[in-house]
This record gives sequence, structure tokens and C-alpha cells, in this order.
Amino acid sequence: MILTIEEIAVKNIISINIEKSLKEAIILMASSNLRNIVVIENTIDKHKTFYLLTITDLIDYKLRNLDENILLKELNLTKARVLKRDENIFTVLNEVEDSDKYMVIVEDDELIGLLSYSDIINNIDPKILMKKQTIATLILQYKATTTYENTATIQAIQMMKDNNSDSIIMINEEHKPIGIFTTKDFINLIYKNSNLQNPINMYMSKPVYTLNEYSTIDEAINFIKDKHFKRIVVTNDDEEITGILTQKELLRIIYNKWVDFIKEEGNRISKINEELLSKTSMLEENASFDFLTKLYNRRKFNSFLDYEISKANRYQGQYLSILLLDIDYFKKVNDIYGHLVGDYILQEVSKILTVCSRNTDIVARWGGEEFILMLPQTSIDEAFLVGEKLRATIEKHKFKDVNHITCSIGVSQFHKNEERDSLFKRVDEALYKAKNSGRNKVCL
Ligand code: GH3
Ligand code: MG
Ligand code: MG
Repeated sequence: MILTIEEIAVKNIISINIEKSLKEAIILMASSNLRNIVVIENTIDKHKTFYLLTITDLIDYKLRNLDENILLKELNLTKARVLKRDENIFTVLNEVEDSDKYMVIVEDDELIGLLSYSDIINNIDPKILMKKQTIATLILQYKATTTYENTATIQAIQMMKDNNSDSIIMINEEHKPIGIFTTKDFINLIYKNSNLQNPINMYMSKPVYTLNEYSTIDEAINFIKDKHFKRIVVTNDDEEITGILTQKELLRIIYNKWVDFIKEEGNRISKINEELLSKTSMLEENASFDFLTKLYNRRKFNSFLDYEISKANRYQGQYLSILLLDIDYFKKVNDIYGHLVGDYILQEVSKILTVCSRNTDIVARWGGEEFILMLPQTSIDEAFLVGEKLRATIEKHKFKDVNHITCSIGVSQFHKNEERDSLFKRVDEALYKAKNSGRNKVCL
């Protein structure tokens, strides 16, 4: 089941009117221990526009020495993308752009939830895909910002901003991580009006939990889940920092992999489908046998006939005859005994025809309850005798359930250089004659 965004959104939100000051916003954020605050603007037509004030913004203001008494409406805040509550997470992931860090869920102008990439991560189960790939291959793009612990706080913050990262890691002389300072810690500094000239080790959190770069993505996700961290500090076997991976980045990687995987699978499947389709039509075309009776089908019969016709045309004294056989009143058999019995009769007749003909003769199902035989090296008189033998054998044969059936047979001989169809036409007329003169007959 695919979750809706409402189900995964953060509902513990604080908001503030855009007419209020930055200072009031900071107080609200610090007291609620939240990283963002939704700023609401009531527009003239009574609709609301939603903006977001984040810790990253606060850092920026601090670095610019902005007066905290400035009003929020003067800040040029980022507008939040507004979403409907029942959209599913994949749709949203497809829609949002890089700049959409946050989204708000709004219904009837009321703020229902706040959503970020981070909120989505715990709701996507990438296990199948992510069991094998290690984070080492991904980390290259995500360099961690590091500094020594006695760096002035303001300088450390400047480094974070310059590197566009939301955390900085303090390392010792051996390059081992000893503490971390994040944007979240920063908000308290502003709130308490701490002296930013102090060394960063006064404010950093320690110890730093790290994950080895040979961990799988799966393990990385569990790490984030278990520890409720927003980021993973990645280290190599010497415990040196190789990079930092945020939830958001991790999610993007997973999502992209997933999309690739689905695309790949989709391509593979449609390729297989195409192959199957062409194979099926090839098989159909190449099929030589009738499914029910196992005799040759009409297509195969025609190819045999064409070959014999070409021989008869080329050489002198080459007779070639054909027999067309149609079961009498077969419709009644079906009507009285049912189709399965009808099928059985067709199979039984097929066997009789095969047994009673020569190896060099070709027996085929012409269609329905009609059969056709090609007798090479056979004149029409000989063919008539063969027809008689077949007719009599079928007449005498005791069929299960039905007991006795009869058939009518038309016989015709190939005339040198005539078209195949004209031969068929004559044999058809002969059969018609047999039917019209009372059935259970062989006619020339
Ligand atoms: P006629 O003596 O004039 O040939 O009468 P008929 O009832 O045999 O001739 P008709 O062509 O009217 O009917 C042929 C029937 O054969 C109709 C069709 O339902 C049946 N049939 C055709 N193919 C099959 C098949 O594969 N299995 C079964 N059970 N019946 C079939
Ligand atoms: Mg028929
Ligand atoms: Mg018939």
C-alpha cells in the first residue's frame, strides 16, 4: 500500500503570522524545539500563503548581522509548496523540485501538516534494492565540513554556510571526529545570545556516532531510524571521516535507484513481451499440425501440394489426385451427443484415414469436419478405389456412443499446368455431387 502524505506528515507544527518579528519567531522555535516555523500571510482575498522560516535562514541572518526586530514579512522567505492531504508519496516525490525543501498540507486554508524529504524516508521500504550497495560509493559527492575544536563558533558557522552544509564536525589532530555541531544547536545559541567568538567545542555535541563506509544503504537507513539522526557521519577503517550523508540525500539516492530499477524492469518486461509476441506469431505461422487431430493443417497440406504440383508439371506421366472428405450430418452428432463426442469422432476418423492411406500420401484436416488427402503417383481411377475403401471403412467402423457415421468423398485429378485453386474447385464440386446424390458416396 502506498501511503498518503498526510499519513507521514509532521503534525506538530508551529506557525506565526507574517506581521510578527523575527525575534518572536526565534522564541517560538527555541521553546518548542522545532527546526522550522510556518509563517502565515493572510492575503486580501482571505486566502493564506505559507512560508517557511528554517534554521538555515537564521544562520544566514546572524551572519549578515540582521536586526532581530525585523518583521517576518520583510525577510523574503521561501514560499512552501501547498499539497492536498490525499496525494501519495510517490506523486509528491515526482512533483517536487530541488528547491522545495518543505511542503505544507493545507485543507480549507487550515494547516494540517508539514512535510520534508526526511519524513518520507522512513516510509519507503528500499530493502530489496539496498541490501548490497555500500554507502562508500555514494559518499564521494558529500564531503563533510570539518574543523578543529578550538575554532571560533562564528567561524565554524561561516564554514557551514560556505559549504552549504547543515553540520560541522570537529576533529582532533588524528583526524578522528570528536564532536558535531548542527544547525539545530545554532538556534539555541541565538536564543541564549551566546558569544559566538567562543570556541566551538563549548557548544558542540559529543561523542559523534559514525558509520563505516562499507555499511550497506540498508544499514545506513536503519542507523538513521534507530538513532533518529538527520545525518550519518561516514568513516573509513582508520576512523577518519570520509563524508557525511543526510537523510535527504540518502532518500534521493534510494529513490533514483528505485526509479532506475523500475525503468529497467519495465524495459526488460516489454522486451520479453515483444519477443513472446513475435515468437507466438512465428509459431503460429510455422505450425504444421492441427491441434485436435494431429494431422497436417491446411497450410502444411498446401505446401506439400505445391511441391507435388511442381513435380507433376515438370515430368511426364506424373499423376496426382486429391480426395476431399466430409462427414455426413456431423452437426447432428454435435447436437445430440455434444462437442466432446464430436471431437472424438474427428480424432477417430483421422486415425482411420492415416491407417488406410499410404506412407507417401498426405492426410490433412481441411477444416471443421472436412479432411483432404493428396495421393501422389495416383490416377483418378486408383484414387476412386482409395476413396471407396475409406468410405466403407468409416461406414463399418463402430464409434463409441454414436455407433455409426458415414462420409461423402469427392475425388479429382490434377491437370497439368492448371492452378491449384482450379483443382480445389473440381474436388469441391465432386464432393457436392456426393452429398447431393444421397451422401455416403464417392464421386469423381
Ligand atoms: P453435411 O452432411 O451436409 O456435411 O452436414 P454436416 O452437419 O456435417 O455439415 P455442416 O457443415 O453444416 O456442419 C459441420 C459441423 O461440424 C458444424 C460444426 O459445429 C462441426 N465442427 C466443425 N469443427 C468441429 C470440431 O473441431 N469439433 C466438433 N465437435 N465439431 C466441429
Ligand atoms: Mg462440412
Ligand atoms: Mg459434413
